[in-house]
Amino acid sequence: EQRKGTQHTEPGNLAGVRHIILVLSGKGGVGKSTISTELALALRHTGKKVSVSGSRRLYPLPGGAPASGACARLPQVGLLDVDLCGPSIPRMLRVQGRAVHQCDRGWLPVFVDQEQGISLMSVGFLLEKPDEAVVWRGPKKNALIKQFVSDVAWGPLDYLVVDTPPGTSDEHMAAVDALRPYGPLGALVVTTPQAVSVGDVRRELTFCRKVGLRVIGLVENMSGFVCPHCAECTHVFSRGGGEELARHTGVPFLGSVPLDPELARSLEEGRDLARGFPDSPAFPVLSSIAQRI
Ligand code: ADP
Repeated sequence: EQRKGTQHTEPGNLAGVRHIILVLSGKGGVGKSTISTELALALRHTGKKVSVSGSRRLYPLPGGAPASGACARLPQVGLLDVDLCGPSIPRMLRVQGRAVHQCDRGWLPVFVDQEQGISLMSVGFLLEKPDEAVVWRGPKKNALIKQFVSDVAWGPLDYLVVDTPPGTSDEHMAAVDALRPYGPLGALVVTTPQAVSVGDVRRELTFCRKVGLRVIGLVENMSGFVCPHCAECTHVFSRGGGEELARHTGVPFLGSVPLDPELARSLEEGRDLARGFPDSPAFPVLSSIAQRI
C-alpha cells in the first residue's frame, strides 16, 4: 500500500548524485531488468572510483602509488525500479520480501550488496504478495514514482540506475520530471535480435530527444545462444542487427550480451552477489559501458 501523504519533499534526498541513467526498451522481456541490475553491479565494481580525503574504505587511485592523501572509494549505486507492473529486480538481487523501513527523511532503500554499495527501491517491497499485480491508474503510479525520488533517503549516491517499463509511457515522463532537478539524465536503450525494429528504437530516441535525455547508446541482449556444454555461441537470429540499427539511427553501439543460461542462473542463485564480484557473461560488456558513463 502506498504511503499516505508526501511530507518528505526535501530536494536533498538525491542531491549530489553524479549520473542518472534510465534503462529503456521498446518491448518487454528483452532483458531490461537484467541489464539494469548488471549495470548497477558493474558501476559499483568497475565504475569510476571517487576521490575522497575522508576515512571511508579507501583504495589507492589507479596508476600506482597515491599522491599524498589522494585516495578513492568504490562508487555508491542506487537502483530504482519504476517498472511498477513487473518489479523483478528484488528477486534478481535476492532481496524479495525485505521490508522498507522509515527514517526521518522518508523510506530507507534496501541495501543489497554485502559492502552496502547498492541500494534498491522497488514497488515489489511494498506489495503484500510479491507476485501481486499492480493494477493502478496513471496518477497513482506517477505519484509513487515521484515519491520514489523525493521520499527515499537514498544517501550520497554516485550513480542512480532506473529500470523503466517497456515503451514510453506516463511512468517515463513522471520519472524524468522527478529526476530532472538532480542533473543531466542519460538513457541506455536495450534491444534483442528478435525485437530489433527501427520503429521501436526510433520511438525511444524521439522520446529521449523530446524530454532531453542524452542517449548513452544501444546494447543488444540475447544475441546468440551460448551452449552450456561446449560454450560455442550460435546466432539463432540474424547477426549484427543491433549494431546496424545503431548505425542507422545514429546512436553509439555499446555491445552485445549473449543469451546465456548461466546469466539467468547466476542472477536467480545470487552468485554474482555471493562472490562479492559479478562473474556473469553480461559483466564484461556492462563494465565497459560503466567505464564510459
Ligand atoms: P524485461 O525487464 O525486459 O522484461 P528481464 O530482465 O526480466 O526482461 O528478462 C526476462 C527473462 O530473460 C528473465 O528470466 C531473465 O533472466 C532472462 N534473460 C535476460 N537476459 C538474458 C541473457 N542474456 N541470457 C539469458 N537469459 C536472459
